[in-house]
Amino acid sequence: MTRPAEYPEEDWLALSGLQHFAFCKRQWALIHIEQLWSENYLTTAGHLEHSRVHDYESSESRGDLLIMRDLRVFSRSLGITGACDVVEFHRAANGIKLHGRDGLWDPYPVEYKHGKPKTNDADRLQLCAEAMCLEEMLACTIQEGALFYQRIKRRERIPLNDELRNTVKKDLLQMHDLFTRAHTPQVRPTKACSACSLRNWCLPELTKTRSAQKYIDLQINGMNS
Ligand code: SF4
Repeated sequence: MTRPAEYPEEDWLALSGLQHFAFCKRQWALIHIEQLWSENYLTTAGHLEHSRVHDYESSESRGDLLIMRDLRVFSRSLGITGACDVVEFHRAANGIKLHGRDGLWDPYPVEYKHGKPKTNDADRLQLCAEAMCLEEMLACTIQEGALFYQRIKRRERIPLNDELRNTVKKDLLQMHDLFTRAHTPQVRPTKACSACSLRNWCLPELTKTRSAQKYIDLQINGMNS
């Protein structure tokens, strides 16, 4: 797989899909290729909390700090588009110019999450991709961002290192390839399946217990295998 220098706009993927992809590649494909979506209590809680963050009217300026909410971002080189929950701009001598604002500013993305920090990289990858979009749009470098978790009411500082950036690029390359081929990966049941909002469509338990033919036999004839 080789990455084009730029993706045409019609091929851009949803940036938020990176967290689905990190959770389960099949889940990402079911949502973004097959257009299935299902709410469970985890996704509903996430939407309610995001609706408070995504509010243009509450963008504000406090001295040397400018806070922008629901900032739309994109990257032609990565082929993604989405929105940052919050981007803080801190006044800095070596910052960048902003349209309509005096002085120089350093961007600092902050992503809000319900629950507590995850063991996988899903949230960190999403934050890193947002920062990479901002870097491309504003011609700057962003060393760090933050994840704010509602359950523990704490901000976690995330260094945007090469390892994270390379994973974003690698995952997006694979996502573009799967999307172009309209290919949904096969079921690979993991512990994540118990918290998956698409479990009832995916039916991961079928792969563990019986073949599809046996399942059909069971449904039609009541035969237990
Ligand atoms: S049920 Fe499991 S395998 Fe199926 S999409 Fe969800 S996490 Fe992936």
